[in-house]
Amino acid sequence: MTSDTTPRGDDVIVIGAGLAGLACAHRLAARGRTVRVLEAGRSPGGRARTEWHEGRPVDLGFQVLLGRYPAARALVRELGIPRHDMRAFSGGAAFWNGTGWNRLAPTPPSLARFGGLAPGDRLRLARLAAEVLRRPAEHWLDDPAAGRTTEEDLRAAGFGDAAIEGFFRPFWGVVFLDRSLSADAGYFRFLLGSLLRGPAVLPADGLGMIAEWAAAAIRQRGGHVELGVRVSEIVRGDDGGASGVRTADGRTLPARAVVVATEAPATRELLEPVDPDTARRVPAGAAAGVVTAAFALARPLYRGRVILVNADREDAGTPRVDLMCQTTNVTRPEAVGGPHILLASSVTTPGPADGSGLAEAVGRTVARWSPGYAWAAHAELIGVTAHEFAQYRPAPGVRDDLPGTRTRVPRLLVAGDLTTHPSIEGAVRSGGAAADALLAAPA
Ligand SMILES: Cc1cc2nc3c(=O)[nH]c(=O)nc-3n(C[C@H](O)[C@H](O)[C@H](O)COP(=O)(O)OP(=O)(O)OC[C@H]3O[C@@H](n4cnc5c(N)ncnc54)[C@H](O)[C@@H]3O)c2cc1C
Repeated sequence: MTSDTTPRGDDVIVIGAGLAGLACAHRLAARGRTVRVLEAGRSPGGRARTEWHEGRPVDLGFQVLLGRYPAARALVRELGIPRHDMRAFSGGAAFWNGTGWNRLAPTPPSLARFGGLAPGDRLRLARLAAEVLRRPAEHWLDDPAAGRTTEEDLRAAGFGDAAIEGFFRPFWGVVFLDRSLSADAGYFRFLLGSLLRGPAVLPADGLGMIAEWAAAAIRQRGGHVELGVRVSEIVRGDDGGASGVRTADGRTLPARAVVVATEAPATRELLEPVDPDTARRVPAGAAAGVVTAAFALARPLYRGRVILVNADREDAGTPRVDLMCQTTNVTRPEAVGGPHILLASSVTTPGPADGSGLAEAVGRTVARWSPGYAWAAHAELIGVTAHEFAQYRPAPGVRDDLPGTRTRVPRLLVAGDLTTHPSIEGAVRSGGAAADALLAAPA
C-alpha cells in the first residue's frame, strides 16, 4: 500500500463515522492498522445515531436491526455488546385499520390468526414466507426476482388491492421509508427473509450504542475518531493515488489510503473532482425521506414490545403518521417511572420536509387510536428530525449499477449503504468489504 511518493501519516483515513465507516475502521484497527475517522457531525453513528433525554435514549428516527442481519450481528458480537442488551420487539407489530387493532408477530401461529388479512391472503403470505425461507436471506439480493418491483412481486403471488393497501403498503412503507413499494423484489425478499428469521431488535442504549461502542473500540486500539471535522477534498499524490484529505477547517491530513464512507449526496460531491465515473454511479435519484417526532410521555401510551403501524386506508392526514413506537418499552423495560419515549414517523410523500405539523398530527392520531389517553397532559415534544435523504430508493436495476468498493483512483475506496443496499446490514457489510480490500493489499 505504501509508495515512495506517499507522505507519512495514518495508514487509512475514513471519511464518515456512520456504521459503514466505523465497521471499516474497527476491522482495520483490530488488524493493527492506524486509522483516523473524520466525522462532520458531533457524534458518531450517522443516520443511526442516538441522543439522550433524561437518561433515556432517543433515536433520531425510529429504526431497528433485523435480528438476523449477519454482518451487523457479527459486529455487535466483536464489539462485545452483551446479548441481553440487544432487546427484541417480542410482540411484533400491531396494525390500526381505522376501527381496531390486529397484532402480528413473525411466527406461523400468529400469521394464521392475523386479522389484517383475509384468510386467502394469509395462506398466500404463508406460502411466500415458506418460499423465502427456503434460501438464505442474502441469496435473494441477487435473485432474478430483483428485476421487478415489490408490488409486482406481490401481485404475481396473487395479492390484490385489499392486502396491498391494507397491509403491505403500510408495513413495507415504514420498512422502505417509502410507500410506493417500488423497491426491487430481491431486496424485499432479503428483508422479508431476515425478518422471518428472528424479531427486530434495538440495543438497550438505542441504535447509536453500536456506533458509540465501535468508536470506543477504535480509540482503545490507538485509532482516532475525530468529531466535528468535515472533509472538503480528497488529496492525490504524485502517482495519482489518494494520499490524504483536506478538511473544511484548512488542515491537510496525509494517509496511505482513504475510504469515503459518507451518505450518497456527500460521496458524489467528494468523488466528482477525482473520479467522475464512480461519482456518476452513486445513486442519485429521488431519495426516500422520513420525518420523526420524538416525545417524552409522563404516562405510557401502551405496554408491550410492539411497533404500531398505521394501516388505516382512509387516513389522508397531512402529514400522515405512518408509525409510532414507544421505544422505552424495549430499551428500558424495567424502568418504573417515565419519561417514556415515543417516536412517531411519517414516510408519506409529499410530506413536510421540515417536519412542520407532524407533532400536532401525532396528537390527533393518538386521539383516534387511544381516545382515553390525555395526550396534552402527558406528552412533551422533545424534537423533530427530518431525514430528507434517509435511504436511496432501490428500484429494479438500481443496485446493479452501484459503485463498488474500489474506485479508479489507487488507494481510494468507497463504503456505505450506497455500495450495497440501503440498510444497516448493507452499511456494515460495505465497511467490512472496504477493510478487507485494504488488508489484502501489500502493507
Ligand atoms: C429514519 C431512518 C430509519 C431507518 N430505518 C432503518 C431500519 O429500520 N433498518 C435498517 O436496516 N436501516 C434503516 N435505515 C437505514 C440505515 O440507517 C442506513 O442505511 C445506515 O445507517 C447507513 O449507514 P452509512 O454508514 O452508510 O451512512 P451514514 O449513517 O449516513 O454515515 C455517513 C456519515 O458521514 C458523515 N459525513 C458526510 N459528509 C462528510 C464529510 N464531508 N466529512 C466528514 N463526515 C461526513 C455524516 O455526518 C455521517 O455521519 C434508516 C434510516 C433512517 C434515516
